[in-house]
Parts: sequence; C-alpha cells; structure tokens
Amino acid sequence: MLETASEYWFFMPPSSSYPERGAEGSASIDGGSRELDDAEGAERAARDDADRDDAPPLLPPRSGPEPIIYPIDLEDSIDPDAAKVVRRLVRHGYEGYLVGGCVRDLLVGRPPKDFDVATSARPDDVRRLFRNSRVIGRRFRLVHVLYGGGKVIETATFRRAPEQEQGDDDLLIRNDNVFGEAHQDAARRDFTINGLFYDLEHRVVLDWVGGMPDIERRTVHTIGDPSVRFREDPVRILRAIKFCARLDFGVSAEVYDAMVECRTALARAAKPRLFEELLRLMRSGACHRALWLCWETGLLDVLLPELSTFLADQPEEEDTLWRVLDEVDQRTKERHAPLDDVVLIAVLLLEPLREACNGARDRVEAAYKFLEAIVDRLNVPRRIAEPVRRVVALLPRIEAGRAGRFTRTGLYPIALEIASIYAAARGQEPVDAPPPSGTAAATADAPTKRRRRRRRSRADA
Ligand code: ATP
Ligand code: MG
Repeated sequence: MLETASEYWFFMPPSSSYPERGAEGSASIDGGSRELDDAEGAERAARDDADRDDAPPLLPPRSGPEPIIYPIDLEDSIDPDAAKVVRRLVRHGYEGYLVGGCVRDLLVGRPPKDFDVATSARPDDVRRLFRNSRVIGRRFRLVHVLYGGGKVIETATFRRAPEQEQGDDDLLIRNDNVFGEAHQDAARRDFTINGLFYDLEHRVVLDWVGGMPDIERRTVHTIGDPSVRFREDPVRILRAIKFCARLDFGVSAEVYDAMVECRTALARAAKPRLFEELLRLMRSGACHRALWLCWETGLLDVLLPELSTFLADQPEEEDTLWRVLDEVDQRTKERHAPLDDVVLIAVLLLEPLREACNGARDRVEAAYKFLEAIVDRLNVPRRIAEPVRRVVALLPRIEAGRAGRFTRTGLYPIALEIASIYAAARGQEPVDAPPPSGTAAATADAPTKRRRRRRRSRADA
C-alpha cells in the first residue's frame, strides 16, 4: 500500500469535499446492515433492518479542529465484522472509525493483527447496540464485540489526555480515563503513525496528528514533544523500538535523543507492561533489530543489565546472541507465528544463563539465582520463569542426547527447540537428541485428571 499511498498525498481544504455527518450518512448506510453474522441469522437481520428505519437522526458535524483528509480506499482489506461494528454505530448516529494499529498496518501494506474501533458512543450505548458484546475494564470501560472464531472487535469511547497539574514535574500518567472527542482521542495516542482514523463511510483517512507524512517517510514520531510523551509513559520508548523494528521504520534525531534521555524512567513503569513489551519485541519477527536498538539506546541497561553487562564483556567479534536472534526471526517468519514465550525468553538470556550455570553443582539453583533479579524487575510470570530455569539447567544433557525421562515431559519439545536454535546460531550440527516420546510427551506435564469421587449414598454410610 505504501507504494501507492503517495498517489493520494494531497491536502484537501478542511470541510470542503468531506461530506458532513448526516448529509449523506443515511444514504450510504445500507450496505453494512445486511451483512449480519451467519450465526445470528435472519431474525437478527430483520430486527436490524427495523432498527435502521427507527435510527435516531445522525449527529451534527464533529466539533474541534478539522483533520487533513486523505481519500484512500481500504475497504477490501478491512475485516467485515469490524466494518459491521463501525457501520452500525454510524447508523445509530454516533461517530465511529477504525483506529490505531490497523489503519497504520493497512497503510504500510501489512495485515493488521486486529481491528480497533473508536466511537463517540459511551460503553453502555455500544453494549446496547451489540448483543454479542461485553463491557470490560473497571477504570477505563471499553466494549468487546465478539464474533465467531474468538474474534474480538475492541470498541472504545473517544478519550482525551488527562490534564497535568500546573507546575507538576511528575508527568507519569496514572489516570487517562476521561471521555473526549475524536480529535482529542487522536492526540492522546502515542505516535503519529498510530493516531490515524479511518472513516469507512467516506473512505478517507482523517489525520489530526501528521501521521500520513510519517507513514510516507517511514518514521516513528511521538505526537508532541518526545521527552514529555516518554516521561508520561516510559513504556512508549519500548513501543517506539517495536514499531521501528517491526515496520523497518526509523526515528528522528529528536526522538532518538529523547529515548536515550528518558530511558531510566522505564524503571518506574508497571512491571507487567514492561515484560509484555519485551515479549512483543521478541515475537515481532524483527527481534534482532529490536534488541540491537535497545542495546544501542541504553534501554537494555535498564531492562536487562545482566544481558548488557554480558555483551559488554564479550570480545568484539563474538556475535552468538545476534545470530540466535536472527534464527528466532527466521523461524518466526517461516511459521507466520511467534515462537513459544518460554523459548523466546530462554534464548534471549541463554548465554549469560549458561555462563552462570557452568561449573555449578546445582544448575537449577544457579539458574534460579541468575533469574531472581530479572523475575523481580520485570514481574516474569511463573509459567515462563519456571520452565526457563529447568530447561537451561538440563540443556547440556539434552545436547548430549542424554535427556532420559525428561523426553517424556511436555517441556521437552521446547527444550529441543532452544537447543536447535542455539546450535544453528553457532553453525553446529543440529542436536542429536531423541524425538519427544509420543503420547507420553504430550501428557506428562498436563494436569492429572481428577477422578470424580463417587458420592456415597446415605445407605452406604
Ligand atoms: P500492535 O500491532 O502491536 O497491536 P498497536 O498500535 O495496535 O500495535 P496496541 O497496543 O494494540 O498497539 O494499541 C492500540 C492503539 O492504542 C495504538 O495504535 C495507539 O494508538 C494507542 N496506544 C497504545 N499504547 C499507548 C500508549 N502507551 N500511549 C498512548 N497511546 C497508546
Ligand atoms: Mg493492536
């Protein structure tokens, strides 16, 4: 899409050819209303047709600043259920747009992971419009509209950025739960490329934040002053790296400097968010570039000082970690799916972990000690920390083909993958280890089925 996007790069004077809400809205709503879920059936379609006739008048035009408008037809690439959600909202007089990552991905020609909707409708209004929906979140309530195959269309009411107290040096956002208007919702987002809204009815991208020029320039830029935006929410620094790596975009010098300047603020971010973003970097299919950027900017010193110290002590020509990460990226791309989280964290830390375990009498204990500070700093969940410890401790036996009873555990295929990534990265022969042993392997770690206790009848007692 990027190649063709430039065709549409022209500025349209505000509110000239962009039809005002309500002017043609009711004429263009027909298409969407008939594409209802198969599962929900004809009864639903009939009710919706009835809805349409009773639909309240459309809202007056948006207030606030006018966006720059780029006519682009993304219709064919949009998930039909997401389109359905937007159309029903609009039909009922609300503003509704596709927003965030899906618009960005469509514009750069990548298939979006999911489709998010932003609307002027309040959560309860959205809930009322979609029987197949549920309100989630206590502090910030948004609505999940549910479709077959586990598909969720996240539908959020426009929010605006919270106001900072005058003279408050602490910019960290703790509460961003204030409803707002579309332009405010665009402005509160992190990067210009993530602040674009797509209006399905008129097939135009609405740009209040300068996102389209940055898509064209392939640049990640914060909306507003980067050092303010990074101090408000330091996790955005990791997100910047994720988008640079995944989309193969660059950052401006100003943003780069702010990333370096604000990196220590990362230590104040919520730990589970930090760990989740680290996982996303590893899952991105571009983890080599992502981790390199983390190292170069000094973020790695804050996130995983154990790894950055290890790298600093390595001779210059030693590049095993980077080759391990290349191998992860290659497998991720081949499979069109990320590797297991345990594999990702284990291979990332494998070299310093091996070093920590070498020569230790109790390797599990040594791995435990090494990981302790990391688990604490990033809130690594037990489901990941525990198997990483076990696998790394057992790795030499696996590599020597002496895994014994371990081959019958559910963890063995994971351990094999870790060993094979490491071998491939070091240019060694694939590990000569026995394959996982059949059904036993699959069931060994599965929770044992509880036998239902036969209830004793009174007569038995
Ligand atoms: P991905 O493809 O990784 O899901 P995404 O851009 O969709 O990327 P999400 O975490 O799903 O990222 O967030 C959805 C949208 O919410 C973003 O595109 C962005 O507009 C906004 N957003 C997410 N995190 C932040 C943040 N920390 N600060 C401001 N806006 C954010
Ligand atoms: Mg997303």
